Amino acid sequence: MSLPRIIVLGAGLGGTIAAYELREATKGRADVMVVSDTDDYWFVPSNPWVAVRWREPDAIRVHLPPVMKKRGIGFTNVGCTRVHPTENRLDLGDGSSMTYDYLVIATGPELAFDEIKGLGPDGHTVSVCRTDHASHAADEFDAFCANPRPIVVGAAQGASCFGPAYEFALILDTELRRRKIRDQVPMTFVTSEPYVGHLGLDGVGDTKGLLESEMRNRHIKWVTNARITSVDDGMMHVEEVAEDGAVKKTHDLPFGYSMILPAFRGIKAVFGVEGLTNPRGFILADKYQRNPNFKNIYSLGVCVAIPPIGPTPVPVGVPKTGFMIESMVTAVAHNLAAELDGKQPTDIPSWNAVCLADFGDGGVAFVAQPQIPPRNVNWSSHGKWVHLAKVGFEKYFLRKVRMGTSEPAYEKLALQILGISKLKATTKGAS
Ligand SMILES: Cc1cc2nc3c(=O)[nH]c(=O)nc-3n(C[C@H](O)[C@H](O)[C@H](O)COP(=O)(O)OP(=O)(O)OC[C@H]3O[C@@H](n4cnc5c(N)ncnc54)[C@H](O)[C@@H]3O)c2cc1C
Repeated sequence: MSLPRIIVLGAGLGGTIAAYELREATKGRADVMVVSDTDDYWFVPSNPWVAVRWREPDAIRVHLPPVMKKRGIGFTNVGCTRVHPTENRLDLGDGSSMTYDYLVIATGPELAFDEIKGLGPDGHTVSVCRTDHASHAADEFDAFCANPRPIVVGAAQGASCFGPAYEFALILDTELRRRKIRDQVPMTFVTSEPYVGHLGLDGVGDTKGLLESEMRNRHIKWVTNARITSVDDGMMHVEEVAEDGAVKKTHDLPFGYSMILPAFRGIKAVFGVEGLTNPRGFILADKYQRNPNFKNIYSLGVCVAIPPIGPTPVPVGVPKTGFMIESMVTAVAHNLAAELDGKQPTDIPSWNAVCLADFGDGGVAFVAQPQIPPRNVNWSSHGKWVHLAKVGFEKYFLRKVRMGTSEPAYEKLALQILGISKLKATTKGAS
């Protein structure tokens, strides 16, 4: 008799470790298969370093097929073109189709550059969202350094990922000082957040004070509540919005180099699938990470629908950070294992946010438990140790992906010592 098939769709930060964790949790009881659209895993958090050549792209890449084979996980790189939840079936990029018993969607976001005229690598700004984008950004940065001019960095309206924007602005400042041309480069940070350090989380600890102070110390000006209306070659047009939604001021910001994080939306393969997604194409999930309408579909990572933290003059999304995604992975693995035993899902992910934002010569770290305030833990700190910790984490995470393991014993121990849990609740034994 054939075993039930669990397909993990997408092999990024969440999908890759989900496949490893599912393999462990369901050994001998299910076949685990990964449907990716690429053979390689890229450590996205290091992309800002690639854009200033502090990292070569190959250093943050893991070639997945041999690892998956070693772990007994099926793998294809043909990608999925459409999910058909009523038929438990995927259309694949090579024209074939594949059925599943359980589906775990981990496809990350589609980058909505097209929502602002002139935004993105096909327009006039660079991106660090993907490693190939970051490589392109590095070429553009080299050319810029030969002819220094103003820089504009930030996050567009509807963006949900702000940490990397701050990171990149401050990394650029560090790199420009190293190249001894910082004095020729006025810098402006443009963000849809209502205040510096909001981060889509209404701040964590004193991220407002810490990030404002960093930017003041480094002579980076900022515009908050910003709506980018369009980008021309060398000029960004921005509306600054008041509390009541009216336009308070307009800014025309000249630039020779600009990186703006776009809004995210769901990928085409799921966009508009009735009952599966919200209007932006993000996957609907209950507290167990299970779709409320198609109970054999789970989701994790950036593709999951999470409502914003509260109203803001310009739309601001909630970030889905690495540790939060790992908590979703653990819950999904446990819940699918329970389902294979004929039980109901048991585990609720903690969605805790643990984040290290590196500036090259220092950084800001924060822990938000839970992610939505008011919180039990609401801590932020800064210092040189953050840079070292981020380098250490990069090495550690890449090793984990290369080995095909999800959470070695010492990681578990470290998290226990810090009092950070991946699971909010478990009702183990429910049937
Ligand atoms: C520049 C940047 C820096 C970040 N830095 C940090 C950080 O320092 N700390 C932190 O905690 N978080 C960080 N994040 C947030 C988050 O951790 C990352 O975005 C993370 O990569 C998200 O994981 P994911 O698995 O949801 O999506 P992804 O890692 O984007 O993976 C999605 C995968 O799905 C694949 N896919 C897409 N469409 C299809 C399809 N049709 N068929 C098959 N496969 C498909 C993609 O190719 C990709 O491999 C950062 C995000 C960005 C953009």
